[in-house]
Amino acid sequence: DNAAHTRTLKVLLAGPRGFCAGVDRAIRVVEEAIRRYGAPVYVRHEIVHNRTVVEELEAQGAIFVEELDEVPADGHVVFSAHGVPKTVPAEAERRNLLYLDATCPLVSKVHREAERHFAGGGPDSRHILMIGHAGHPEVVGTMGQLPAGAVTLINDAEEARTVQPADPARLAFITQTTLSVDDTAEIVEILRERFPLIEGPKREDICYATTNRQEAVKAIAAECDLVIVIGSPNSSNSQRLREVAERSGARRALLVPRQCDLDWTVLEGVNTLGITAGASAPEALVQEMVAELAKRYTLQIDERIVKEESVIFRLPAPLG
Ligand code: SF4
Repeated sequence: DNAAHTRTLKVLLAGPRGFCAGVDRAIRVVEEAIRRYGAPVYVRHEIVHNRTVVEELEAQGAIFVEELDEVPADGHVVFSAHGVPKTVPAEAERRNLLYLDATCPLVSKVHREAERHFAGGGPDSRHILMIGHAGHPEVVGTMGQLPAGAVTLINDAEEARTVQPADPARLAFITQTTLSVDDTAEIVEILRERFPLIEGPKREDICYATTNRQEAVKAIAAECDLVIVIGSPNSSNSQRLREVAERSGARRALLVPRQCDLDWTVLEGVNTLGITAGASAPEALVQEMVAELAKRYTLQIDERIVKEESVIFRLPAPLG
């Protein structure tokens, strides 16, 4: 009706939001591989956790598989941005598959940290506590850099309080890149208090993109009746953005993959709406949401950018 069309809705756009440099690079790896080698190019696991990205790449000739045994003998295969356990490239080599590694350089950095702490399992080896979420492909990939038993996963503060490492004097910690900055700081504090000799990065391994997106949503949350996070339910950093928004004062925060997934009744009574997007969500999905809102409300859009980003990663060697 007419009243709905004329109601004013204030929209706060958080910035930075959406694609990070690692996601942008991973998508370019698949596109460039298709351009060079022709379709199909196989991709092990969702290249980034976003349905729209996956569908667009499928339309260009990518075939997504869960395991390498689904890739035919002469196939080209790309490993996703989340990273893979060492067994995966080893298996690709054994089968003579041509593989390209789209692991984000900031994830690879954590892999190398883990290897440094492990020190080949020799006398300088430290047992590693990895702060992260069980089952996430990044965690599987990072733990899979080292032999079984070298890394213990710490899911939350409670596990940090109760973990009983064999030698508390020879410990190190690493983290998943897409965690909540605040929860992780708490967990690191618990570990440092219990194990004063633990080694680790100065703060944690949470990447610049995760940190900036959480900071940006924090900056708008308290003004918002509702915050919409554009992102997929299996995207860790998008889930964290939703939690951060709610904890930072938004009355409500929802994870919405696309505008067509939104139940529009949630906007009843909302005067100020915040919008952000996870690191794997294309900006086009944010613009699509804004365009749909503009059909229903008179929008007053205010973009709040807390930090400029200029990180760009080069493509891996055979493509770069
Ligand atoms: Fe890399 Fe961070 Fe993006 Fe993950 S969220 S792909 S670690 S830049």
